[in-house]
Amino acid sequence: MQEQSFAWQQALSEMITSPLELLSLLNLCPSQLPWQWDKNFPLRVTQSFVARMQKGDPLDPLLRQVLSIKEESKLSNNYSSDPLKETEHNPVPGLLHKFKGRVLLTFTSSCAVHCRYCFRRHFPYQENNPGRKGWSQALDYIANHPDIVEVILSGGDPLMAQDQFLALFLKQLSDIKHVKILRMHTRLPVMIPQRICHSLLKVLDDTEQDIVMVYHINHPAEIIPSIAQGVTALKQQGVTVLNQTVLLQGVNDNTECLKQLSLNLFQAGILPYYVHLLDAVQGASHFSVSHEEARKLQGSLRAELPGYLVPKFVREIPYHHSKMPLDLLP
Ligand SMILES: *Cc1c(COP(=O)(O)O)cnc(C)c1O
Ligand code: SF4
Repeated sequence: MQEQSFAWQQALSEMITSPLELLSLLNLCPSQLPWQWDKNFPLRVTQSFVARMQKGDPLDPLLRQVLSIKEESKLSNNYSSDPLKETEHNPVPGLLHKFKGRVLLTFTSSCAVHCRYCFRRHFPYQENNPGRKGWSQALDYIANHPDIVEVILSGGDPLMAQDQFLALFLKQLSDIKHVKILRMHTRLPVMIPQRICHSLLKVLDDTEQDIVMVYHINHPAEIIPSIAQGVTALKQQGVTVLNQTVLLQGVNDNTECLKQLSLNLFQAGILPYYVHLLDAVQGASHFSVSHEEARKLQGSLRAELPGYLVPKFVREIPYHHSKMPLDLLP
């Protein structure tokens, strides 16, 4: 683990943003792939993640998650830019209150990666992010709703925030006694394992609430030893570490891959939580896996893994009071 907290910021500043550079690092010829420039949601990926890709493989499952391809420009029926109707559950800027007892804060507007299937790619973060000063409105809302037990920091990626800023916010949150659990949805420790640095661990240790980290890992090849080291450090402080996966055609839509993912997560100290069916976000239809296929995968995982390593297969349905289990979907 890194002593210095600037190591992760260094890694951020060295991110790869040119598709041509990415392809050249992977010994791929640009003509081997239907790649494209996307200036609205451009390429963004860390060197560390690229180092986990297989050189010379145009079908690499990690590459597929980050490289924009021509299929994204295809408009699909039933795919929209706000598939979850999130703008309707937005009582104050930066806060989503859709489910009982839990609120989700879009804590930052950036990530250390641009996942091509991201359902937030069209979300108006810039308008909806209160910025450094504006969190008092969200904190007031939480303080005035005693039924809120859990606050979820999402994004963007909440760990893109500086530790001093996180510390300031979590200090204020600690004063709201009915909030018992703080959860973070983050992909940063996957993209930049050094993000779990001493300074962050100190901030988390000083927090009153119990802490849950939900990582986002889609493929076993994403898991490297430094991720497991970070998890060990978190667990020593009593943090619970879970994982969510998005089911993606051409990335992880086969039993062997999902089975290995659960086993490797467990080995790294992480428990599988959700497998999300893709949200119908415009530009991502080529990642879609049918309910029928997803049910088969869930069935084979149930047959091959202990129950605690079988993630819940769910889909986000607008206006439903929870994530919808695949078993209840048509
Ligand atoms: C996913 C989500 C949650 C958390 O749901 P869990 O089932 O508790 O993981 C909370 N709020 C919003 C708006 C969400 O999208
Ligand atoms: S890390 Fe999460 S929020 Fe960020 S681009 Fe990827 S899926 Fe979207």
